[in-house]
Amino acid sequence: MECRVAGGVRRGTYITDRDGMAVVKLSSGYNIGLPPAACTRLSRSVPAPAAKRAPVTQDANLPELAIISTGGTIASRIDYRTGAVTSQFDADDILTAIPDLAKVARYRTKQLYTILSENMTPAIWQELARAVHEEILRGVAGVIVTHGTDTMAYSASALAFMLKTPVPVVFVGSQRSADRPSSDNAMNAACAAAAATSELGEVAVVMHETTSDDRCAIHRGTRVRKMHTSRRDAFASVGIPPIGHVEYPSRSVMLSPDAVRRGTNRPELHDRLEKHCGLVQFYPGMDEKVIRSFAGYKGLVLAGTGLGHTSTHLITAIRELVDGGTMITMTSQCLNGRVCDRVYDTGRDLLKAGVIEGGDMLPETALVKLMWVLANARNSEQAAAMMQENLAGECNRRSGHGL
Ligand code: ASP
Repeated sequence: MECRVAGGVRRGTYITDRDGMAVVKLSSGYNIGLPPAACTRLSRSVPAPAAKRAPVTQDANLPELAIISTGGTIASRIDYRTGAVTSQFDADDILTAIPDLAKVARYRTKQLYTILSENMTPAIWQELARAVHEEILRGVAGVIVTHGTDTMAYSASALAFMLKTPVPVVFVGSQRSADRPSSDNAMNAACAAAAATSELGEVAVVMHETTSDDRCAIHRGTRVRKMHTSRRDAFASVGIPPIGHVEYPSRSVMLSPDAVRRGTNRPELHDRLEKHCGLVQFYPGMDEKVIRSFAGYKGLVLAGTGLGHTSTHLITAIRELVDGGTMITMTSQCLNGRVCDRVYDTGRDLLKAGVIEGGDMLPETALVKLMWVLANARNSEQAAAMMQENLAGECNRRSGHGL
């Protein structure tokens, strides 16, 4: 079919009609919505909108999982009027759309939010932690959290600090929505269900490991990062290998010896967070006003250069911030390796100014941890000590360069 629109003539294969728009598959493989009045050579008549499918039959002999849906691309489709991807599916829809899930477990579903993850907040992390804890107390074999990929690592970290769990708590998302060719949503969800019924006993992120549909990686919630804007294998464990893998389509799960095992911890919820914390990346020429703008914050994470540095001219502002009651933790933009502020002069000066070394924590994990530690420690001495302890797999004793 051929459509004359503002940008010129668009040619493609007519697929269906949705939201008053003709859905056309372009030769690039992408589907777009175009106004039917602007199109000619419609090869098919407009079908009636599909009725909601009947719910998938659940097998009472399978273990029970909870699916808590928060939104993101895994729960999205294209809005054909605007071309934007919007979160629209609830947890039931996900189950209906991916019937394979019914082969792995039976499910309770709860739609907590329907948002893109850039709109997540620490208050929502707290709500999510409470909802997951409730499901754990109910006795489910595991919990799946469907979530946007952009800030999934922050939420997974937040839950890793706020919860102790005897069962797997698995975050899953997708890079491409269900109505796109090469969507990764069905495979990621099937891998997540397999991981959630496995012997795992910690908070993890499960996503495509390769660009093929053959394997998912299980990443520790406090060590994972989205490393690519659009590829399906965007997620990687940083500083440690993945804690497990799920083969696809067999769904067989292999856990590394380091993965915390099911039943190791008893369920606990510690959902307090000090939200008045920030994260800023140092860059050459950074104005000290940027540092001073955090005056009054309870905590600040710096993503410094190399072993954990800022320029010398920022140190006075940093010292004043610390003296004013802001706890500052240094991490590295290198992502891999540990911070060590005892090697170069600037590092030593930062330590003298009161900056705490953040080991090999990822900057975003350090931010979430700082929020948690400041709300849960008895005093600032204990908070400073906790920032350097390993609480939820976020700090490794050794890494890369042996420091
Ligand atoms: N922006 C979306 C989100 O994080 C992307 C995704 O879901 O993958 O919610």
